[in-house]
Amino acid sequence: MNVHTLFTGIANTHIVEEARGVVVIDAGMPRQARRIVNRLGALGHSPADVRLILLTHGHIDHAGSAVALKRLTGAPIAMHRADARLTATRDLKIPPGRSGAIDAAGAVLRAFGWIVPLETFTPDVWLDDGMALRDFGIAARVVHTPGHTAGSVCLAFEDGTVFVGDALLNALRVSFPLWWEDPASARESACRIRSLRPRVCLSGHGRPFDLNALDAFVGDHCG
Ligand SMILES: [Zn+2]
Ligand SMILES: [Zn+2]
Repeated sequence: MNVHTLFTGIANTHIVEEARGVVVIDAGMPRQARRIVNRLGALGHSPADVRLILLTHGHIDHAGSAVALKRLTGAPIAMHRADARLTATRDLKIPPGRSGAIDAAGAVLRAFGWIVPLETFTPDVWLDDGMALRDFGIAARVVHTPGHTAGSVCLAFEDGTVFVGDALLNALRVSFPLWWEDPASARESACRIRSLRPRVCLSGHGRPFDLNALDAFVGDHCG
């Protein structure tokens, strides 16, 4: 398995190559689809090689180019049902912030919206906890990790690589998401990710991190 990460506006998009297929994890901000396809081309893939566009959750920095990427590749869009409300309208839905200052920043974003609105959609494939994705050519299963959003999921590969979306960030260090719909669930989800004993975690924001870094962050919180 090979992973190629691109910065698509605000968040990371990961291109995962396995023997039987290519999967794109998160589609970036609006107007990023062509860039993603260009990177696929540089890796020797045609757009039609993409078997699935998997969204870790429904925020615009991850779902913004999902429809455009589907048009270019023909691949279905997969997401958890609990986030469908986020991609059904153009409103910018930022959950409450982790602190007062972060919440104030979210309120400003909510008030002004985003410069480029979300191209709305209904996913083609519904992701559920425990779902295996071998039909799409990858040795991975879905882990439901609500908190940042109700429909946030991680994708756990058999080789110990876990794509955590925004359930955990690693900008300067491993941390909880800046905004969260349900802090208690987010904390439980962080412990659930740790219980997977991942070899490496790839976040929606920031650099990859290993189990030691994860333990250092959540070790005291989890039973
Ligand atoms: Zn994000
Ligand atoms: Zn998010």
